[in-house]
Amino acid sequence: MKNGAQYRNSLKKLRPNLFKWGKLLKDVTRNPATKLHVDAIAACYDAAFDPEQRTLFTNQSHLSGKPAHRWNTLMRTPEDILANARMKRAQFHRTGACHGATCAGWTMLNALWAVTWEIDQARGTTYHSRLERYFRFLEDNSLATAGALTDAKGNRSLGPATQPLLDSHLHIKEIREDGVVVRGVKAQICGVAAAHEIVCVPGGSLKEDESSFAIAFAIPRDVAGLTIVETRRPSDTRDEEEGWDAPKVGGISQAFLLFDDVFVPNERIFLNGEHEFAALFINIFTALYRAPIGACVAGQGDVMIGAAIELAQAAGLSQKIFQDRLTRMAINNETTFGLGIGAIFNGSSHPSGLWIPDPLLSHVNKILVATLPYDTKRIAQELGGGIVETGCFPSYRDLHSPLYGKELLDSLAAASDGETRARLARLQEWLTIGGGIPGCLNGGGAPDGARIMVRALEPWKEFAALARVIAGVQ
Ligand SMILES: Cc1cc2nc3c(=O)[nH]c(=O)nc-3n(C[C@H](O)[C@H](O)[C@H](O)COP(=O)(O)OP(=O)(O)OC[C@H]3O[C@@H](n4cnc5c(N)ncnc54)[C@H](O)[C@@H]3O)c2cc1C
Repeated sequence: MKNGAQYRNSLKKLRPNLFKWGKLLKDVTRNPATKLHVDAIAACYDAAFDPEQRTLFTNQSHLSGKPAHRWNTLMRTPEDILANARMKRAQFHRTGACHGATCAGWTMLNALWAVTWEIDQARGTTYHSRLERYFRFLEDNSLATAGALTDAKGNRSLGPATQPLLDSHLHIKEIREDGVVVRGVKAQICGVAAAHEIVCVPGGSLKEDESSFAIAFAIPRDVAGLTIVETRRPSDTRDEEEGWDAPKVGGISQAFLLFDDVFVPNERIFLNGEHEFAALFINIFTALYRAPIGACVAGQGDVMIGAAIELAQAAGLSQKIFQDRLTRMAINNETTFGLGIGAIFNGSSHPSGLWIPDPLLSHVNKILVATLPYDTKRIAQELGGGIVETGCFPSYRDLHSPLYGKELLDSLAAASDGETRARLARLQEWLTIGGGIPGCLNGGGAPDGARIMVRALEPWKEFAALARVIAGVQ
């Protein structure tokens, strides 16, 4: 396993291919646009060597039997996925932000574990053993993997094959004996700046004439032909400037990935044209991903509760005044966390060895994750007052102006000094309307998709039959 310093060094060895503000980011571990997310992931690597944290951040490898970073292992039991959920909550507790580079790619590889097994059974292919070798490579090198599913998509009412711009979706441009050449755009991908590798998968289910979009593979982040452009986020310039107008202990990064004829060797391809397995991949991936994400928003909600209590006290108010609303915030947090656990333990084992949470409960959880945190945020803003709701007080720089800084800080002082209150307000602002928002609505897929799945999975006819029997009607 690697510690945080070794992880940072390994990132430095990659070819710089990330841009932001029109400039090449030469060192993602130091550039302020990406440093905070790298720091957050470095802390996950260090956790493997911390006696108090290592049970969450490591697991026994399904391949070597040795301890490995959790994000290099297969989730074989409900306990493995529960630990994933707890690890996510712990990450939010420490940084206020999400796992990024050690989350989506890992979950995609786990889903592919079952999907490659299914394809091999149906088609006599050898994808599963390739994936096993790739997992071993990740474990041997302690690598972090971002996951790219979302295509740029183009016109949403057209399929990938009928788009005016073919590059709206990542696709196979050329098939060679030793691999494929791909091109297209993947968008809004989390954690790429802090990852060594990128796992790419189809963005949705596919029809027969869309088989050139049915491609799943893994590439080094710095592969030839790939240009990565970091996105803007609310308050991102605050990450890059001095002071505490945004917290400086963690953060996310997101990127658009421009594939310009990227060669992928056969050994790194896990689905290649089998369009009918794209839907299976999406079904398994979403079940696996949407169960533990309740823990992410719960973890962030916990920090909001903490900031609300501290802000109340800094303002000279007791926690008691707000207790009802704090309790409501806690209920929201525990609902998404708990429903995720329900989905995990109500799941089942796939013959490949992967544990798959109950899809119905996972999709319901996704809908709650897209709903309840907004109530939590609204309460956090209500309890914090105007300085939280819109962050409407002067900047760090103004608060430190030799001309008027002292007067401003005095004007913010209440039961605490002005700086304490201002720092807490900035944290709550960041969590509720700033760069700390984890993407509850669309991260992990838009809630409409989850609603469609609930509609498909719920046994409506069976319930109607039950009602007929109980009512005594034919
Ligand atoms: C914080 C965050 C992190 C993310 N991280 C990742 C990541 O790591 N990897 C990754 O692959 N993706 C990631 N995403 C992307 C995420 O998966 C997408 O945002 C999500 O799938 C929705 O896609 P979209 O943004 O293109 O929305 P759109 O497709 O533009 O959808 C907008 C709305 O239109 C509806 N809609 C779209 N098409 C149709 C249609 N044909 N018929 C009816 N309704 C339609 C949708 O349901 C939705 O309500 C992330 C997103 C966020 C916000």
